[in-house]
Amino acid sequence: MTNERAALGGMLEQLVELGSIEFRPEPLDAIVERRLKAIWTARACPNCDADTLHALDGSMRIWCGRCDWKTTYTRGTPFNDSELAPSEFLVAFVLYADTLLSINQIAPLLDRTYKTVFEAIKDVEAAFTRGFPTVWNRIDHTIAGPTQVDETQQVCSGFKGQDPPRDSPSRGGSPEGGRTRWSGDQGDDMTLVAACRDVLRVISAEEGSAYDENLDPVIEEAGDLSQPLGEIWTDELPAYQTMEHDHRTVVHDDEYVSDEGVHTNQAECLWSVLQLWLAKFRGLSKQGLEQAAHTFGLLRSLTLVGAPVHSLIDCVAVNAFR
Ligand SMILES: [Zn+2]
Repeated sequence: MTNERAALGGMLEQLVELGSIEFRPEPLDAIVERRLKAIWTARACPNCDADTLHALDGSMRIWCGRCDWKTTYTRGTPFNDSELAPSEFLVAFVLYADTLLSINQIAPLLDRTYKTVFEAIKDVEAAFTRGFPTVWNRIDHTIAGPTQVDETQQVCSGFKGQDPPRDSPSRGGSPEGGRTRWSGDQGDDMTLVAACRDVLRVISAEEGSAYDENLDPVIEEAGDLSQPLGEIWTDELPAYQTMEHDHRTVVHDDEYVSDEGVHTNQAECLWSVLQLWLAKFRGLSKQGLEQAAHTFGLLRSLTLVGAPVHSLIDCVAVNAFR
């Protein structure tokens, strides 16, 4: 695992540990302010319903020209009323979701405590997954071709209902710089199910083994995000045989691509990257795994479609005022 870790983000980890990466919030804060003000001024006043909301450069204020209703542009977002700047939320979230850095490594980059950064990431993560469908449907892209559905087994930590205890530098001493894997009781058997279609990646974590697995949630979500869903390609697990959708299967033990060209290679590839990423948590609760895997898939979809960073901001903010 050590060698694989180094293949993804290894140099970045070293630079972080050297303290060589300086955080400059201003450019990102400026983008956040522009996007949020644009969202505000494009909507009706929540008080009088007129299209008369205004924003000015250099002011936090949003106000209604008709009824005099006032607020600040961060209202309803995780950025509101926080000691952190919006850029700190977003940088923490991107480093969490898109690299192998742990929160223990991210917190000092921002010169914040573990708890502050952990809570900021959780807030952004919740808002991001809520807002993603709206923003995804607005992004100009064509999703076509078959949807590959595949599953993989995962055992999470036995720390019921909570995240495993996080490591601290004082628990260090291993050759990997203090990383020790959570070694509590074995927890719930989970099945990760992925639907990959073109640039879309949807991952859901369900309790239980694949053989009694309910595949509907992930297929429904993929369908909502890329209608119409069309053909589904799977391997030949029993759970797939009861699916209502049109689907074709490839038999994995014998072949990776069927005679008709059916395969689940995109999903297999996604698993290998996801497993690397999940390893940085050193154990996750059931809920933690569900949330993390889902977030990973959605953020990867944004990356694969080439979405600009402001689409991430839009995801976080788009539902904030509803
Ligand atoms: Zn008004």
